Amino acid sequence: MYLPKCRRCNLPIEKQAVSSFDGQLKGKYHKDCFNCHTCQKPFPDEGFYVFDGKPLCTYHYHEANDSLRAAVSCGQPIEGPYAVTHAGK
Ligand SMILES: [Zn+2]
Ligand SMILES: [Zn+2]
Repeated sequence: MYLPKCRRCNLPIEKQAVSSFDGQLKGKYHKDCFNCHTCQKPFPDEGFYVFDGKPLCTYHYHEANDSLRAAVSCGQPIEGPYAVTHAGK
């Protein structure tokens, strides 16, 4: 019987495979293996981003995208529109 292999640990997945519902993410993961590829933390509320075919948490997605603009002031990544001053800050 064919079992899909987990993209994280490469072991067969017998149950509770996790795959992306929107088609962005290829392959399947164990439920326990489905977490941020960088920090290995599970995603809150199933919110995650896909970068380069890997699931990433919000923080590491923005880091990978070089869009971590707010790290200087509050450490929180910015999603959506953001303000830039005339001085470029
Ligand atoms: Zn796994
Ligand atoms: Zn992360």
